[in-house]
Amino acid sequence: MNEASKNLPESIVAQGEPVSEAAAGAILTIDLGAIRENYRRLKAQLGGVPCAGVVKADGYGLGAAPVASALSAEGCTTFFVALLAEGLALRKALGPRPAIHVLNGLPPGSEPEAVAADLVPVINSAGQLKAWSNAGQQAGRKLPAAIQVDSGMSRLGMPPAEVEAISQDPRAFDGVDVVLVMSHLACADEPQHPANERQWLAFERLRKMLPEAPASIANSSGIFLGSAFHFDLARPGAALYGINPTPSEPNPMLPVVRLQAKVVQTRSLEKGAGVGYGHTFRATGPLRAATISLGYADGWHRRAASAAWFDTVRLPFLGRVSMDSIILDISVLPAGTLGEGDLVELLGPSQSVDEAAGHAGTIGYEILTSLGPRFHRRYVNR
Ligand SMILES: *Cc1c(COP(=O)(O)O)cnc(C)c1O
Repeated sequence: MNEASKNLPESIVAQGEPVSEAAAGAILTIDLGAIRENYRRLKAQLGGVPCAGVVKADGYGLGAAPVASALSAEGCTTFFVALLAEGLALRKALGPRPAIHVLNGLPPGSEPEAVAADLVPVINSAGQLKAWSNAGQQAGRKLPAAIQVDSGMSRLGMPPAEVEAISQDPRAFDGVDVVLVMSHLACADEPQHPANERQWLAFERLRKMLPEAPASIANSSGIFLGSAFHFDLARPGAALYGINPTPSEPNPMLPVVRLQAKVVQTRSLEKGAGVGYGHTFRATGPLRAATISLGYADGWHRRAASAAWFDTVRLPFLGRVSMDSIILDISVLPAGTLGEGDLVELLGPSQSVDEAAGHAGTIGYEILTSLGPRFHRRYVNR
């Protein structure tokens, strides 16, 4: 910690200084009530099966602590993060009770930190199991662990041969209390994909070789594959944040974010004027333009959706996205409608996260997790 940050509360240092509405170039509104409603909708879909909350990558860019607190208020008692560092921060934010699982497991040597914060590592290899077993024996008690098996995604989890080897080793789980056996689906957002059933079958076979424990395979989209995929715990992330878990059908979730940027300057352009870096756009006639305070440094990729909105009026981008600014064609609006400090919308009722992602050739997950640190963040409906 440097001198300047020494006197600040830890939570503020960790997340960076909050940006005031007046000082910010853009405003990100996060509807915690919508996240809670989305959690309730997923629970309804799950019948009685418990539902965890995945809040990795700082709650998909929306703030792990406020999101997890909102989910706790809905009765969510189990959370997943990706990294140990995220787990340590979330434990501080939530206090001692909720279960916090670390999906990427623990970097070698970091076991004591996880023990001290009462985190549950997701064990992805025989080596990680050995390290956790040693930590448990040193602590003189059984330490909770989730075991992940690779049912066919080839990303994380014990491969089948390793599961088989461990099942033959009577001491493999010394010092370990298996609280969850899990796997992850590669193609859950494509309900007809044959990999779903293949992974289901592999998971059923592999989990029977491990100590008996609650099982989990469904992410957001997995919940919509039917009750066979629900097992004992679901692990949605994206759907909580309003991303469509059923991409081939209408979105069953509520939108959660609204991103608005301030107008910095407006101007009139004459026919032939070159606009932005590289002059990739040239005015084909007289037009009016507005420059807004948002750019690729805020996570608005150069290829992302190429329009902003004012009420229901579409304002196309002109030329390239800059680091801190974008130029809009506002000719369709009556003169004087937009001035300095007025807000236009990039994400919200007029343009969903999934739509913006579609224009950018990416997925809503990447749009959300890219949203930058310079916004004023406003949490509503706590
Ligand atoms: C990210 C992740 C999830 C949540 O996935 P969504 O598609 O966002 O619902 C669940 N499980 C694992 C292992 C993950 O990595």
